[in-house]
Amino acid sequence: MITDISYIKKIAQEKESENIVFRKKLINIPFPIVDKIFHAIVKEVEQQIDCTQCGNCCKVLEPEVSDEEIIQLAKFKEISIESFKKNYISIEPNTSVQFMKGKPCIFLKENLCSIYNNRPGSCRDYPHLHHERSKFRMKRIMEQYSVCPIVFNSIEALKKQILKN
Ligand code: SF4
Ligand code: SF4
Repeated sequence: MITDISYIKKIAQEKESENIVFRKKLINIPFPIVDKIFHAIVKEVEQQIDCTQCGNCCKVLEPEVSDEEIIQLAKFKEISIESFKKNYISIEPNTSVQFMKGKPCIFLKENLCSIYNNRPGSCRDYPHLHHERSKFRMKRIMEQYSVCPIVFNSIEALKKQILKN
């Protein structure tokens, strides 16, 4: 498994054209077949990568949060909801989606999530690879290709299977 983020970033640039060919090939494969292969790969890759040694998503992404989660997060930070919103939340103007702002995440302590059991749903779900219809979500998935080693290694394994035919 490749887990070095700097190396993944470098390789990701080199593989841009290959990835375009891969995505074009996916178009002709029925989505249930892609899901079956991809989800099996993701399961294997996840077992081989230790997120506690990485933490890159918590360093470079800003997770989406709901109103209910903001109430909880303000409690963990021991400040008022208003103060939490003012200092740590930004709102995407077109969609009104709320995000925790700041990189790395304010809850990342010594490379670990300090609120792990109560982390927001978007953190729990990241890198969002278990959903159905992966092939139709490939643009979003590929946005995480150079961010998350689970995504990178899973896509590389999927590419091997797709491009060999
Ligand atoms: S809340 Fe925890 S899991 Fe989510 S980004 Fe922050 S440190 Fe990472
Ligand atoms: S989900 Fe991906 S980016 Fe986040 S810690 Fe695990 S391997 Fe790293």
